[in-house]
Amino acid sequence: MISFDLLCPCPVHMMITLILLGKVSISLEDPDYKGLELDVFCEKHEKAAERLVAFEGTYTGRRFLACAEPEGHKCGFVQWVDHQWPPTMENALLMLWAMVEESKFARVNDNFESAFTIHNLIEEKNKLDANYDKLVQDVHQLMDMQEDRVVDLSYVHANLIYLQQCRKNCWMI
Ligand SMILES: [Zn+2]
Repeated sequence: MISFDLLCPCPVHMMITLILLGKVSISLEDPDYKGLELDVFCEKHEKAAERLVAFEGTYTGRRFLACAEPEGHKCGFVQWVDHQWPPTMENALLMLWAMVEESKFARVNDNFESAFTIHNLIEEKNKLDANYDKLVQDVHQLMDMQEDRVVDLSYVHANLIYLQQCRKNCWMI
C-alpha cells in the first residue's frame, strides 16, 4: 500500500503527489478512511469489509467497502459508500487521468531516450578501453625495442673497446 507519511494529507495534494510519483492503483489507503467496517460483512467469507477509497477513472475518491481477504482470495464483494460524482466532477476526473496517461507516456519516452544514451556511452567507453589497451601494448613494445637497442649499443661499445685495445697493442708492437 501507499505510504502518506511525508505527504500533505489534503486529498487534492495526495492525488497530485501520487500522480507525479507514478503510483497509481485501483484503490488507495486514505488515513481518514481505512480499517474494517465492523457491521458490514462479505457474504462468502462472512468477514468484516475493508474500507477503501477508489482511485480509478470516474470512481476516483469515492469511498467503498470490499472483501477484506488478500489479493487473489477476494470474493468480489463491493458496496459503495459515496454516491456517483456529478457529471462535471466525472469529466474533470477523466481529464486528470488523461493527463496521467500522457505523463506516463512521456516518461516512458524519456526512459527510452536515456537507455539509448546510456547504450551509446557504454559503447564509447568500450572503444576507449580497447584504444587504451592498444596504447599500453604499443608502449610496452616501444620499451622492449628500447631495451634491445641498449643491448645492441653495449655490444657495439664492447666491440669498440676491443678495437681500441687492439689499436693500443698495435702501437706497442
Ligand atoms: Zn469475501
